[in-house]
Amino acid sequence: MKITDIFKQKEKTFSFEFYPPKDEIAAVDFGINIGQLIKLDPSFVSVTYGAGGSTRSRTFDLVDYLKNRIGLNTVAHYTCVGSTKSKAMEDLRSLRAKGLQNFMLLRGDPEIGSKYGFIPCYDGFANATELVSYTREHIEDCCIGGGAYPEVHPESVDAEFDIRNLKKKVDAGCDFLITQFFFDNQRYFDFVDRAREIGITCRIIPGIIPLIKYSQLERFVNLSRASIPARFLQKLEDNRYNSEAVYKAGMDFAIDQCRDLLARGAPGIHFYTLNKSRATVEIYRTLKVR
Ligand SMILES: Cc1cc2nc3c(=O)[nH]c(=O)nc-3n(C[C@H](O)[C@H](O)[C@H](O)COP(=O)(O)OP(=O)(O)OC[C@H]3O[C@@H](n4cnc5c(N)ncnc54)[C@H](O)[C@@H]3O)c2cc1C
Repeated sequence: MKITDIFKQKEKTFSFEFYPPKDEIAAVDFGINIGQLIKLDPSFVSVTYGAGGSTRSRTFDLVDYLKNRIGLNTVAHYTCVGSTKSKAMEDLRSLRAKGLQNFMLLRGDPEIGSKYGFIPCYDGFANATELVSYTREHIEDCCIGGGAYPEVHPESVDAEFDIRNLKKKVDAGCDFLITQFFFDNQRYFDFVDRAREIGITCRIIPGIIPLIKYSQLERFVNLSRASIPARFLQKLEDNRYNSEAVYKAGMDFAIDQCRDLLARGAPGIHFYTLNKSRATVEIYRTLKVR
């Protein structure tokens, strides 16, 4: 089913993001965790496309499995990195032929350690907008999602530039947006207001990641440049050597964050699960999502 058809049935969606397991042990672990997560009956799930296109075949196998063997509404991520126009259309057509209709189209990040940042392929796409527009033109009957950044994409000169580019991306054919994770809900609501003012009308689903280990703090902040509310940060710092206390602080924070988002009108939650189930299951059950 297309994500837009799910929107017609559900005022709020609850979805999970996975990445393809890197080896056999990780695959077993993933199997156990996804077993717990699918009991929650998510509205849809999505599978990332590894940096630099590194997980291409594993992403494709996993979306095929989740959609056609497990029967989940599944979104395949795809990026511009390393993709010529013809290669991208060949890939998306092959997924379309397997019944996949939902694509999360991103510019993508280069491989970790790459010195030069994003470099478009010869005869490829310079940004996600070009990929979205080309896909709209060449792939029939599909539903397209795009990424959005409440705290501004790190390469953008400012928020105004970023939101104008986002408007172009939506105009090129995005049906919905999912945000980078954030911890300060006001940033999300201000961003949604700015998006509405500029004429973006599609759903903007907040992406949430439970921060439940002290070691995640630096990584998450570097990845998204997300601001962390001072009281939460203090709690993490105070308990940095007590992993159970950090877990509890992170869970309490994530539950309050999701409650607040939903109460103030967010159209659901997209959980970055990191292929683990415990935190997401606990949050989901506490929210009593049906
Ligand atoms: C929900 C979500 C899922 C993700 N999944 C993946 C994944 O599976 N694999 C992966 O590798 N990465 C993933 N990412 C990360 C993403 O690829 C990076 O954040 C990347 O740097 C930007 O991707 P984008 O699609 O948002 O880019 P774009 O929309 O292309 O924007 C990138 C930058 O270019 C600027 N820009 C856009 N259009 C123009 C234009 N016409 N002229 C000038 N500047 C322009 C934007 O303002 C922005 O600064 C995900 C991000 C999100 C939010």
